[in-house]
Amino acid sequence: MASTAQAVTLPKYAQVAVPVHLSKTFTYRLPASMQRDVRLGSRVVVPLGRKPVTAYVVALLPALREGTSLIESEIKEVEQLLDRDPPLTPQVLEVTRWVADYYLAPWGEVMRAALPTGINASVEEVVSITAEGQAQRSAVRSQSNVKTRALNLLAAAGDLDLKTFCLRIGVSRTPKWLRELEADGLVERVHRARSTVTRARKRKMVRLKLHSKDGAEHQSLTRAQHAVIETLRAHQEEMAVGDLIESAGISESPMRTLSKKGMVEIFEEDVRRDPLADAKLPAPDDFQLTPAQGQALDAIEQPLTEGGFAAFLLHGITGSGKTEVYIRSMRTALAQGRGAMMLVPEIALTPILSRRLRANFGDQVAIFHSSLSKGERFDEWARARRGEAQIVIGTRSAVFAPVENLGLVIVDEEHDTSYRQQESPFYNARDTALIRGQKENAVVVLGSATPSLESFHNAQTGKYQYLHLANRIANRPLASAELIDMREVFARAKRPATFSDQLLTAIQQTHARGEQAIILLNRRGYSSFILCRSCGESITCPNCDVTLTYHRSDRTLVCHYCNHRQIAPSVCPVCDSKYIYYVGEGTEQIEEEIRKRFPSLRIARIDRDAASRRHAFEKALLDFGKGELDMLVGTQMLAKGHDFPNVTLVGVVSVDAGLALPDFRAAERTFQLITQVAGRAGRGARGGRVLIQTYHPGHYALRLAATQDYPAFYNEEIRHRRNHGYPPFVALASMLVHHRELRRAQSIALSLRKALNEANSNRACRVLGPAPAPLARLRGEHRLHFLIKSRSRRSVRQLIDTALNAGEFSDTDLRSVNVEIDPVSMM
Ligand code: ADP
Ligand code: ZN
Ligand code: ZN
Repeated sequence: MASTAQAVTLPKYAQVAVPVHLSKTFTYRLPASMQRDVRLGSRVVVPLGRKPVTAYVVALLPALREGTSLIESEIKEVEQLLDRDPPLTPQVLEVTRWVADYYLAPWGEVMRAALPTGINASVEEVVSITAEGQAQRSAVRSQSNVKTRALNLLAAAGDLDLKTFCLRIGVSRTPKWLRELEADGLVERVHRARSTVTRARKRKMVRLKLHSKDGAEHQSLTRAQHAVIETLRAHQEEMAVGDLIESAGISESPMRTLSKKGMVEIFEEDVRRDPLADAKLPAPDDFQLTPAQGQALDAIEQPLTEGGFAAFLLHGITGSGKTEVYIRSMRTALAQGRGAMMLVPEIALTPILSRRLRANFGDQVAIFHSSLSKGERFDEWARARRGEAQIVIGTRSAVFAPVENLGLVIVDEEHDTSYRQQESPFYNARDTALIRGQKENAVVVLGSATPSLESFHNAQTGKYQYLHLANRIANRPLASAELIDMREVFARAKRPATFSDQLLTAIQQTHARGEQAIILLNRRGYSSFILCRSCGESITCPNCDVTLTYHRSDRTLVCHYCNHRQIAPSVCPVCDSKYIYYVGEGTEQIEEEIRKRFPSLRIARIDRDAASRRHAFEKALLDFGKGELDMLVGTQMLAKGHDFPNVTLVGVVSVDAGLALPDFRAAERTFQLITQVAGRAGRGARGGRVLIQTYHPGHYALRLAATQDYPAFYNEEIRHRRNHGYPPFVALASMLVHHRELRRAQSIALSLRKALNEANSNRACRVLGPAPAPLARLRGEHRLHFLIKSRSRRSVRQLIDTALNAGEFSDTDLRSVNVEIDPVSMM
């Protein structure tokens, strides 16, 4: 009954979201021609202001909603329907709506983020000549004015986009006479989606037709034509046109003649751009699971076979076999006829993982990540959309991948901050994965060796089921970490040194044994801070328990949470030493120094710069894996997930920069880093050493990371969080005001403070700020921020929503305000 009812009541209106920084949706009329074909999630072109834009259909309405303030005659029409098969599935559409609501993000922006770049078409204006114009043109052929030239141009060139048209006529802007031509009905102007949308790549093929197989001898053929037939026969009667040209040493024209004679057929074939096309795949493993792995797998399989939502935290130390549990769970999902998704922090960092999955699942895996080419990304996405790939592995935005009948979602290294998008829409893919799992009745597994405090807390309170892999495979020992006290190194040398003797000796010995080393620098953000070389003390805010940031210009120390300021001291307030300095060494200097000391080492440097050059980066990792490099030097990216059995030394040159960041998660991040880093050493049978240079050898995060004692760290850290009122005990949001002009940023911030105060009359939240953001100036913009805390997350969102809507903010003002719910970084 429902379907017949649907068949008669076609939608008359579409509610759409546009991918710009606006939280509203808009209603448009659907022309009769589109009413049958339009779907939820379809992309359409609509007029917005003076310009047409691409928009996403979020609701279809048979009539205007009751009590609407819209006036029928003022509603504009949808100009164009871009797809009949909507790129966003209904489930994904639901998830994007949740993300928009929860993170107070513009829905259209979320939908755009959910699609691979290349599918988001832009709109252009196209000029064409009408039949009337054609007739007129021949009538006035003799005249040589500009209008005739324009008509001639359009007649010869066909449709032109407006820019090209102006260029060819030789004018810099749309000429007035074009409107006159349009008014006279001689030309037409329409908007259409620009055809830069990424498409499947085609290849021209040629195939022998059946009846010509034996008949060729009786035809009078040229030598070249004979060569075509012979070559095709030698190649299973079908090959790429380009290959045939090359191997037969002919041009394309004999093929075309043969095609006209009906002896061969020329056709096109889709070519898949496969990111792993030339990759060497490892043999799929097939070992007996350990008892702990078996228990974890059983627990995951239970809800998976029953088909309901469940959330797990898989806490397994590095090398304990988590990935193997993921792979087996994915197999189970497939056996149930369901799809699976695995999110990883930065897949470019784990080329080995994608190869391992491809070896296990072949073409059933689609790979999504940001450093694929547009074409590769589109093809992988399309394979998932068509249901050819039932498993998707990818970074953050893969959480929106169009996996049909999703049964399992895995979030590996769930504590990783790269799951949080650092630009609008600010969403966290880990938390979105849980929502997607709920909506699709899928099982969600969060995995980590160092779970985030929030996730471990959720496991403690029973919100997640806790699974534990406490030992390494084959009971390989964990590398022990040794803390090197740089205060002593300084006391002995009487001058600042980048390397301790212990670390230098260890590098020397490792190299002498033909083993490999990783040296890294913990450096996040760009701020500097003050540290005493004698006692290791850094200077913290009296109100906030975070490190004060040093501002060179006026020699002050500033708290970026509450705006407390003080003059930078010239002697250490704790020990009176005058050896105060501010921190900031780069990976480049470190690499240079090592090269100078050990000229025979083969070294590659890996940091953000290097990572942006995908191939160089992957090559360095793969070469290192093959033993063609002796050392990798880099930032904390190097700590993530690699498995290099010949690495027996990991050195952390300076861990203190991360520890002293003005972020309440600084200790947690440092603990995670050191634990992960220690996991990189000793993956093979030879064991390994981890050396950490620090001015804070007594810090609990370092001490407990050195002994890999997660429970002790959790207990210590959760106490701090409770005492100082930080997550998971409060909900947190930040609002960042950014503007080129400082005065403008300040005035928006002041209005915002006022609006927040008014909206907070019930005192449900605590509002801190405005204070300069830790990165007070970024890309030419000044930045101020607020921190909003409350026991109730709902109150936080309500407060922000009310303040932004009630306050008198223009659209431009609002574009200068970023709202982050549950921010993962205070930078
Ligand atoms: P994690 O993801 O926890 O770091 P992996 O799943 O990558 O751990 O396993 C570490 C190593 O141990 C890998 O080389 C893997 O092939 C191997 N491995 C995993 N499970 C087993 C097992 N049950 N028996 C033998 N080797 C295993
Ligand atoms: Zn001191
Ligand atoms: Zn403070």
